[in-house]
Amino acid sequence: MTDQPSYSVYLHIPFCRHRCSYCDFNTYTTIGDLKVAYAAALINEIEQVSEGHRRFAHTVYLGGGTPSIMPVEQLVGILQAVNDAFLLAEDTEITLEANPDTLDLEFLIALRQFGVNRLSFGAQSANENELALLGREHDFTAVITAMDLSRTAGFDNINLDLIYGLPDQSILSWEQSLRAALELHPEHLSLYCLTIEAGTPMQRWLRSGTIRKPDPDIAVDQYELACDLLSNEGFNHYEISNWAQPGRECRHNMSYWLNDQYLGFGAGAHGHAAGYRYWVIKQPRAFIRRMTGKNVAQFPWSSAMAGKKRLDRRETMSDVLITQLRLLQEGVDIPAFRKQFGLRPDEAYPGEIGQLIDYGLLFEKGERLLLTKRGWFLSNQVFYRFM
Ligand code: SF4
Repeated sequence: MTDQPSYSVYLHIPFCRHRCSYCDFNTYTTIGDLKVAYAAALINEIEQVSEGHRRFAHTVYLGGGTPSIMPVEQLVGILQAVNDAFLLAEDTEITLEANPDTLDLEFLIALRQFGVNRLSFGAQSANENELALLGREHDFTAVITAMDLSRTAGFDNINLDLIYGLPDQSILSWEQSLRAALELHPEHLSLYCLTIEAGTPMQRWLRSGTIRKPDPDIAVDQYELACDLLSNEGFNHYEISNWAQPGRECRHNMSYWLNDQYLGFGAGAHGHAAGYRYWVIKQPRAFIRRMTGKNVAQFPWSSAMAGKKRLDRRETMSDVLITQLRLLQEGVDIPAFRKQFGLRPDEAYPGEIGQLIDYGLLFEKGERLLLTKRGWFLSNQVFYRFM
């Protein structure tokens, strides 16, 4: 045992082949020629931040964008740099996000051999029309093939992402997507309610009347259907939008929800360490330029850090409540909160918490503060009160 902190490591890969109609992530479709230079910059950033000290890490997450369209040599180089820079726990969870139509067996075997032990596929829907609306380039057959290939390559921990709350998506269609996903026996499911983000094609379609506004009441019914169906299938509903077979909860994302420390690398990545939240410059070209310029790194920041914010006590309290309430069984540990801040949550936020309990959105169970079932779907309204 050691008193030294152990970190989660996030690595951002900002490349996609095509922009999905709902996506506002930090990703680009026209700069594929930068992949090699970007990987070199990312490796440089990892080395800068580590400063030759091998700190402990227990999860690594390659997210994007579409990490699975990076050449395998570059991915292996990035993972090697993480291995060199950190002391990885024996059972470190190493996840790669992937689009189902971007993989072959050779690629998967290479990743598996290099320590990647979890895959997360953007499946989104099993319905052709919905996939077309979302601007996805694959059909559901590609998801089935990707799952088959991944199992053959030895992956036994796979997540599928699905989206509900789509314009004109019926409850039946959602149920069919869920059942089609379950037939593939994923260890984990992330189910997201569509948010129509500013600046996306979907927002333009909504404004021009090409699509109809999704009905929030149907989305609530779809969420409830998922809760029931997945509970019957033995999944643990451990976070508002996440379900896992027992023991397959995503450890990387758990570190966000437990408000633990994580290091963010790559264009637009965010980190939380040493009492700060910080973020890396967003533009990949600017990121590469910074990482080839003067080294002004100081842990946990690299030369590409764009901003940082020291968290004061009030912000830390708010972060703890907002992140930990997402965990449906654990919620907020009241004695731990009191130990950290000298106050119980309802002393820190007397008006808010009392009111949210009266509204039936929060409740106390033993020494824990939790979202009620009604609060699961209305969680944003709860979190807003602590901001
Ligand atoms: S694949 Fe993912 S990151 Fe890329 S455009 Fe689609 S939703 Fe966005």
